[in-house]
Amino acid sequence: MTKIALVTGGMGGLGEAISMKLASVGYRVVTTYSPGNTKSQQWLADMEAGGFGFRAYPCDVADDESAQECINRITKELGPIDVLVNNAGITRDTTFKKMGKPDWDAVMKTNLDSVFNMTKPICDGMMERGWGRIINISSVNGQKGAFGQTNYSAAKAGMHGFTKALALEVARRGITVNTVSPGYIATKMVREISREVLDTKIIPQIPMSRLGKPEEVAGLVAYLASDEAAFLTGANIAINGGQHMH
Ligand code: NDP
Repeated sequence: MTKIALVTGGMGGLGEAISMKLASVGYRVVTTYSPGNTKSQQWLADMEAGGFGFRAYPCDVADDESAQECINRITKELGPIDVLVNNAGITRDTTFKKMGKPDWDAVMKTNLDSVFNMTKPICDGMMERGWGRIINISSVNGQKGAFGQTNYSAAKAGMHGFTKALALEVARRGITVNTVSPGYIATKMVREISREVLDTKIIPQIPMSRLGKPEEVAGLVAYLASDEAAFLTGANIAINGGQHMH
């Protein structure tokens, strides 16, 4: 039977590439978008025109009721979710001195609480069926910290703590849980950084002297989602052009 993969934030730069890749290797892909996203219908039409028949559901991943409601709908309308990619995320960068509680809360809720909110209603079903893949999209800045990102670095590091603990709990039930930590990837999130900062501060830190491509991250996610990756769990896989090795 065709497996169902849910990609949160599937209309963003990385999420779109991950959704397309998973569809191309045979998964039925479902994505979520923020309830306020006004471009969702156009995106779905573009994807349909490109041969990708995705289903998409509104879901505020930061809100547990919205997450539960969305997952109930997907399960009822399409069937149980086999692969969960926790990809939705935001930044609210500023130095700790200037950071307000709203900047902290928004980033923690969207990047970290969301992992609980989405995984909780899905994990029991995966355990009952004896197969599941949970893939958490973290960041190099959760591994090494980044100036102006105490909130984001904390949330992204927290995702990996979650990954390791849950991987232990579900290892005997056919479920793997892994973290992918991309470096700087050419998506809207990174294009919002000024060209000058990219050229003088970011790209010089990357031994490969370039930004990563969304498709490069998507290929890794597709591998983690596959049957072949059944023995790989609790890992934090860096994909960063050599920027940070550990
Ligand atoms: P984008 O900004 O392009 O996409 C982010 C996605 O998250 C959007 O689809 C957005 O949906 C969704 N989203 C944000 N808030 C919510 C919410 N409350 N509820 C539901 N969906 C939400 O970013 P990227 O594609 O670049 O990033 C994807 C992930 O990869 C993020 O977790 C990011 O932290 C991580 N990452 C990215 C890197 C990069 O270099 N680009 C590097 C390392 C990690 P909508 O548009 O509908 O609001």
